[in-house]
Amino acid sequence: MTKPVVAIVGRPNVGKSTIFNRIVGERVAIVEDMPGVTRDRLYGKGEWLNREFNIIDTGGIELGDEPLLIQMREQAEVAIQEADVIIFIVNGREGITAADQEVAKLLFRSDKPVVLGVNKVDNPEMQQELYEFYSLGIGDPFPISGSHGLGLGDLLDEVIKHFPEEEGDPYNENTIRIALIGRPNVGKSSLVNAMLGEERVIVSNIPGTTRDAIDTPFTKDGQEYVLIDTAGMRKRGKVYENTEKYSVLRSLKAIERSNVVLVVINAEEGLIEQDKKIAGYAHEAGRAVILVVNKWDAVEKDDKTMRNFEQKLRDEFLFLSYAPILFVSAKTKQRLQHVLPMVKKVSENHHLRVPTNVLNDLIMDAVAMNPTPTDKGKRLRINYVTQVAVEPPTFVFFVNEPELMHFSYQRYLENRLRDTFEFEGTPIKIFARKKN
Ligand code: GDP
Ligand code: GDP
Repeated sequence: MTKPVVAIVGRPNVGKSTIFNRIVGERVAIVEDMPGVTRDRLYGKGEWLNREFNIIDTGGIELGDEPLLIQMREQAEVAIQEADVIIFIVNGREGITAADQEVAKLLFRSDKPVVLGVNKVDNPEMQQELYEFYSLGIGDPFPISGSHGLGLGDLLDEVIKHFPEEEGDPYNENTIRIALIGRPNVGKSSLVNAMLGEERVIVSNIPGTTRDAIDTPFTKDGQEYVLIDTAGMRKRGKVYENTEKYSVLRSLKAIERSNVVLVVINAEEGLIEQDKKIAGYAHEAGRAVILVVNKWDAVEKDDKTMRNFEQKLRDEFLFLSYAPILFVSAKTKQRLQHVLPMVKKVSENHHLRVPTNVLNDLIMDAVAMNPTPTDKGKRLRINYVTQVAVEPPTFVFFVNEPELMHFSYQRYLENRLRDTFEFEGTPIKIFARKKN
């Protein structure tokens, strides 16, 4: 259910991002194509021998002006905390440096599996010099060349050997999994406590009593929910406090395990770039999303404040135009009673199935109202539409020429679907496939 996480660590310039890009390949588009979301090389998806995994380039985390050794130590710590397997990259042309030894020591002390990649081994003769790297104490060095794409297969074979066993899903399929994400101090823990403290909420177990009890299952009005990784919210280390980017990494796993993501924003601070990035991951992962503006009590308000705040959010989160916004206060409990009903509603929308005949009638009407685009004398023809998946609702349009399905027309079709059916809170995916 949750994908394993692989982290790449190593000194600057050893080739981490080159290797990251090789492994992620075309999937690097994860957040780049999204309007309003900045490019980020931190995180991507990989696949090897049918095993999917998430991959983090710890070198993508900027740490300001910290000295090299401290930066490396922090990056290694993140890798140790977040990853199931660590790829440690060294430079085969330069040999072992003091910084390499330092990182090796840290990795060695952790109980995480580490695979050692010796990069820039561009030709086979160089493989003779590998034995030096045994002295790092990490095990067999794997010669690779990021720029030529050599040796990566053997390296990845070794990486996936160390993946944890796939775990069964502990919750039944009707349980709604909620991830609360947002930067430190926006009020996530306070919201959790306030929500769980609500009347008629039955918490099934006390989190944090065992190491593995990271989730908090509860029942409200007969619906089962689980708050994902609530322990992670409390267990923020120094690293997470100091470096905002790290809190993103923590969120990613929670997003993947969830159905509904509550993006918590601090009303006092307004929006910052990081909020957008995290929300972008949730969107990209196809999760239902609700924007929760917390600490609304602390904002000085007049009759336009809410509308202005909402407009600002809409402008900043263009890709989340479907997400409902709730203005709440964990402190005064203002409007908190709306959170779970909204979670339930967007979860239902996330699962919505449109009957095929209704779908096709709607699309044919839409096409009649706004004719399909043409290119070089050729017109897009939509022959048939079918919904192939839920969570999120995913539609395949069978057309004469998929390239003729322009973004703007696809947006039009999506809007028609949204006007007609209840898709609030859920992304919709649309694919065009060739079929005459
Ligand atoms: P990072 O700082 O560790 O992310 O390193 P980069 O991926 O940015 O690479 C640093 C430099 O090494 C770049 O100029 C790359 O083109 C180069 N490089 C990366 N991989 C290889 C390789 O396998 N062989 C050679 N010769 N150069 C490489
Ligand atoms: P987290 O780091 O996101 O889990 O945030 P916390 O729940 O630890 O809250 C951070 C700080 O914000 C604490 O001092 C809380 O008391 C305060 N806080 C949380 N929610 C609210 C709220 O709705 N209104 C106000 N005024 N303060 C809040």
